[in-house]
Amino acid sequence: MRANYHTHCLYCDGAASAADMARAARAAGYSALGFSSHAPLPFPTEWNMPSDRLGAYVAEIRGLAARYANEDPPLDILLGLEIDWLEGTRTPGDAIFDQHGLDYRIGSVHFVRLPGAELCTVDCPAAEFAGLFERSGRDGRAIWREYYRDVAALIESGGFDILGHFDVVRKNNADGRYFDEDSPEYLAAAMEAASLLRGRDIVVEINVGAMNRGALDSPYPSLPILRELRRLDVPITFSADAHAPEHFGRHLDAARVLAREAGYAGIVVLDRPGPGGTRAWREVGIDET
Ligand SMILES: [Zn+2]
Ligand SMILES: [Zn+2]
Repeated sequence: MRANYHTHCLYCDGAASAADMARAARAAGYSALGFSSHAPLPFPTEWNMPSDRLGAYVAEIRGLAARYANEDPPLDILLGLEIDWLEGTRTPGDAIFDQHGLDYRIGSVHFVRLPGAELCTVDCPAAEFAGLFERSGRDGRAIWREYYRDVAALIESGGFDILGHFDVVRKNNADGRYFDEDSPEYLAAAMEAASLLRGRDIVVEINVGAMNRGALDSPYPSLPILRELRRLDVPITFSADAHAPEHFGRHLDAARVLAREAGYAGIVVLDRPGPGGTRAWREVGIDET
């Protein structure tokens, strides 16, 4: 079963309409497609959905879901949001999203706040990340320390189902140009955050978004982190982090190879709603993806 719960469209920073994304996912062999537009924040950004668009987004995705449910074979379309964790401002479990009856929530850290610097995203364009590095005092450790501190706080805040791109702080660090991803202290910070996932009902994605954008040649998270997640019995799912129709079905081989290398035999997918109207995670073999 091919499923993807990380999909952007024109309501945020995606390049195509929800309808076009659904059509492309179906053509690429998916039987479940979750939309996860960047949820509104209390201030405007170039990639988050404006607050006054949320109602239209919910209605459009539910409408698409109803349409595709009647097709043969049906495509199970789910309504989700990718919600930022931002200290003092937003947590993915915030009750303001309760009224929309979301099928799931992705919790992600994109922003970091360095001392004396304005709010920045770690997955920003390369030139902006170079500026962030300058403001860190040319010490990349300040960036990942802040990032993993926030990931730990996100996990502890809870209220979401899928942890987005565990080590997205690597996005601009191809070839280790800003920090050493193999250093014991970097790995210790990542592992400390990972340890907080033990026993929680949170799924981690193997996310090929940076591969889709040509930024990295490997998925998130890196193999040492994924091995630790396997040891902690944290379930995984495959994620395209699709921002354009051509992103569906790409780099699945890399995701499968990484999952197997870390010791996973299966991933989890969200079942169709049961009698109570609730969805539950179900494991499928990697061969079936
Ligand atoms: Zn994200
Ligand atoms: Zn995303």
